[in-house]
Amino acid sequence: MKAIAVLTSGGDAPGMNAGIRATVRTALTCGLSVFGVKRGYRGLIEDDLFQMRSTDVSNILQHGGTILHSARSEEFRTAEGRIIAANNLRNRKIDGLVVFGGDGSFRGANDLQREHGIRVVGIPATIDNDIWGSDYTIGFDTAVNTALEAIDKVRDTAAAHDRLFIVEVMGRHAGFIALEVGIGAGAEEILIPETVTQIPEICRKLQSRLDKGRTSSILVVAEGDEEGNAYDIAKKIEAQSGMKSRVTVLGHVQRGGSPTAADRMLATKLGYGAVKALLDDAAPCMVGVEDGSISRHPLADAWTRKKELDKLLVQLSSGLE
Ligand code: ADP
Repeated sequence: MKAIAVLTSGGDAPGMNAGIRATVRTALTCGLSVFGVKRGYRGLIEDDLFQMRSTDVSNILQHGGTILHSARSEEFRTAEGRIIAANNLRNRKIDGLVVFGGDGSFRGANDLQREHGIRVVGIPATIDNDIWGSDYTIGFDTAVNTALEAIDKVRDTAAAHDRLFIVEVMGRHAGFIALEVGIGAGAEEILIPETVTQIPEICRKLQSRLDKGRTSSILVVAEGDEEGNAYDIAKKIEAQSGMKSRVTVLGHVQRGGSPTAADRMLATKLGYGAVKALLDDAAPCMVGVEDGSISRHPLADAWTRKKELDKLLVQLSSGLE
């Protein structure tokens, strides 16, 4: 292997830049040429690649977003699109590809290796943390900290005005962000898709808090909760109990910002680990960090296996009233 390419795909996540830096510098140290691909698979099809030097990744580690930009590409989902992408890589004599993204991006990468022999390694990068095979994904820790900071502020106004606040956090179909944010912020209730949300029970607990003189409460809701989003929950609580609330949807602020130390360490380990996996001929695989060490798993595990929530945290999410 003489040349590799790197791209970021799907939703951006803080720490991607730290990961790109580690990938590029590890590759250069190992004597490989490295190409950056702009806008994920779209750029691969449009041949939007450039050769990267060490200085191209100077001073990026501390920034959110991705210097390579990210995009979604419908064309890459088709066999015809992947033929164009593979030809663009071959024309530059690139035979290895590092993909930062989620399970969708990994499916595409797997197809590229199966159909065209381009060796691919996936790096789990999504704030949602919903990828099996790595204790954490790049961006999750930063997103949790960003949401926590926001909720601490909401808590001040909730307390000052004796109010009930319902705060919605991201996470797609999973409750990883909501669980850690809810516990970290001392939320009175945490609503996640993995556990059954019982509105009557929530109303009963809120009323009992009021009866004890605890006049403000915060509910953290995962965007994928089966009872609906924060506005739906607010309506249901009001319909059943008459209690009014204020809704705060944190939204995309959770995706931005400077990565935390934990995300920088994770991204640096994974960028290094991906290049080593390519050199060891371990592709196709996904690299993760489990119990502090770099691990390798088949890419397909990312979409066939389901990562579970920390059972103790789930227990604590409703046990500290
Ligand atoms: P994520 O990687 O965060 O899950 P997406 O699901 O949006 O994000 O996937 C990112 C890109 O990966 C898509 O725009 C598409 O180009 C490619 N992709 C997603 N799913 C597939 C698939 N089943 N087969 C081939 N390519 C896919």
